[in-house]
Amino acid sequence: MWMGREKGMSSPRKLYEMIRRLGYPEEIAKAFGEIPREEFIEVESKDAYSDSALLSYKGENFYSTSSQPSLMAEFMRDVGLRKGMKVLEIGGGTGYNAAVMSKVVGEEGLIVSIEYEEKLCSLAKENLRKLSIENVLFVVGDGYYGYADLAPYDVIFATVGVDEIPKYWIDQLSDGGKIIAPMNLKSISYYQPAILFKKNGDFLAGIYKSATNFIKASGMLGNLNERLLKSFQTCEYYLKKISMLSISMPVLEVLTASVGKIGTEYFFVDEDCSAVHRNGEWLMCKECLRLKRAVKSLEKENFPDLISSKFAFNSKRTDFWVERIF
Ligand code: SAH
Repeated sequence: MWMGREKGMSSPRKLYEMIRRLGYPEEIAKAFGEIPREEFIEVESKDAYSDSALLSYKGENFYSTSSQPSLMAEFMRDVGLRKGMKVLEIGGGTGYNAAVMSKVVGEEGLIVSIEYEEKLCSLAKENLRKLSIENVLFVVGDGYYGYADLAPYDVIFATVGVDEIPKYWIDQLSDGGKIIAPMNLKSISYYQPAILFKKNGDFLAGIYKSATNFIKASGMLGNLNERLLKSFQTCEYYLKKISMLSISMPVLEVLTASVGKIGTEYFFVDEDCSAVHRNGEWLMCKECLRLKRAVKSLEKENFPDLISSKFAFNSKRTDFWVERIF
């Protein structure tokens, strides 16, 4: 393993200071200061303590990256990570972020981390063992299904771009629990909006946090696009038709981010737009109404498969609405 030529000059302390300087909570900064990131980078790297995403492993048909530390700190702050919490991480990689989070939740907390690639999972386990970290459980699997055995979780923390928030996650999240997830958009491939969801009684509310760039998920978590390709083609056509530029980011979020089902009511909120699903109907305000009007004004002859002009978001995924319409 590469042991870091610049040891001494460059150390976890550098990340501690940087995260602190950026104003993140002390316990988060401290956790970064306690984990030697270089131990998790399985390829040659110049500076493991720079604030950048780094390639951590290169396999034949897959690779993994260690996410940008300041972005991880932002996610940790946004979900309110603290002592004693039980966290489900999706996309464990070689284990770096799980190790950092394990320090924040402390011995009374637990991190369950799911990694799709077996090789990475065993590397991660080895890395954690070497550092005597015992409050992280690494499992191989498709994060789509979560990990029911240890549910409920206070936090679900995705470090991989996902196509949807699966029902399993919502079921495995405690009331008041939070999910942070970079969401793969259908129409934009170069970044993923990170959406913070909060489960609150019968509602799941989402708020757009930042533009991010993660590896796109494999398995069920990442192939929804293919499963929905047909309806998405229609969606793309539709988006072009009403002019992409006229649709603001929040509306795109509503179109593409998933909204989880809890009971019979669904809720999506962000800074400029909100939508509530009640009695089989979405009630929208601001930007959504603009979109609704645009949909109504579409000419029917352009859409031979149009069976109903009723505008409705689907209960589970907002971007299913195309299927509802056509
Ligand atoms: N948290 C990691 C970052 C890993 S990058 C770290 O700190 O190093 C994203 C990881 O998600 C990759 O290792 C990739 O193999 C994994 N991944 C991709 N699809 C997945 C899926 N469906 N379920 C679980 N993990 C997945």
